[in-house]
Amino acid sequence: MASQIVREWAGINTFAPATQTKLLELLGKLKQENVNTLTILVMGKGGVGKSSTVNSIIGERAVSISAFQSEGPRPVMVSRSRAGFTLNVIDTPGIIEGGYVNDQALEIIKRFLLNKTIDVLIYVDRLDVYRVDNLDRLVVKAITDSFGKGIWNKALVVLTHAQLSPPDGFPYEEFFTKRSEALLKVIRHGAGLKKDDSQASSIPVILAENSGRCNKNGSDEKILPNGTAWIPYLVQTVTEVVLNGCKSIYVDKKLIEGPDPNQRGKLLIPLIFALQFFLVMKPIERAIKKDIAKESRPSWETRDVSAGNRKF
Ligand code: GDP
Ligand code: MG
Repeated sequence: MASQIVREWAGINTFAPATQTKLLELLGKLKQENVNTLTILVMGKGGVGKSSTVNSIIGERAVSISAFQSEGPRPVMVSRSRAGFTLNVIDTPGIIEGGYVNDQALEIIKRFLLNKTIDVLIYVDRLDVYRVDNLDRLVVKAITDSFGKGIWNKALVVLTHAQLSPPDGFPYEEFFTKRSEALLKVIRHGAGLKKDDSQASSIPVILAENSGRCNKNGSDEKILPNGTAWIPYLVQTVTEVVLNGCKSIYVDKKLIEGPDPNQRGKLLIPLIFALQFFLVMKPIERAIKKDIAKESRPSWETRDVSAGNRKF
């Protein structure tokens, strides 16, 4: 495997001291649970703030952001280490183009992830979007088809652009709840999860404000309109997902290629022959043998024989 440059996580020093303390505490907690490496995969539509969220978590401009969706076609993995702990964050380009999933872009992402383990999936979308549509469902379905339903056990949703005043005088929390519910419903649909599936209802939804204009509290931490310091809260939720007892997703060849439908058909051929032999041919053969054994001599034969025996 190509060696990956792991740099010291210097960006952590750019956070407010209160945020730094919380982050180091969380890393300590992970190390206590023998988690020394953490790989986060970031996915979502283009322009929703994936790259900005990666930079916010790392604390530096590690990946490029763009207001005009001119993302590079390839995923980028940012690796940082701190006190023996390695954090990998994989930023991906949006996979929707012209209203459809761009299969080639998806393929590139899958190849990039080969032989990597996804500990957490961050699904990014915007808070300030008032409806969900079929595109959301397509992205969720593409993720599910690529990595399996189990990936949603390791997922959390991040809603960016969280510093907003909801329209029509909606209270902030109520707006957030409605937006989360609508998106989780789409995730349930797109991932083919059942309505009462605990998997879907337990996906955490976190708010983020990546803009430099984000409000700050007295301790200089970036806060949301509801007062939450969102960076440590996001990392705390990532930690909870890591330690939630569900398995991380190891991306192997089999997972990304899946069984070849043609091969699958071919494998069935001998089975069909065997079934045909035992269920159709054998019973027919048995029936014929039984018939032969049971059959009394035909009357013409008997008549002939008896006729032959008659002496005229
Ligand atoms: P990506 O295509 O999903 O990677 O999105 P980017 O991170 O490149 O962001 C697209 C645009 O949205 C850029 O102009 C960002 O500055 C802006 N942006 C991203 N997140 C936020 C956010 O939380 N708040 C605001 N106001 N702008 C954001
Ligand atoms: Mg991007």
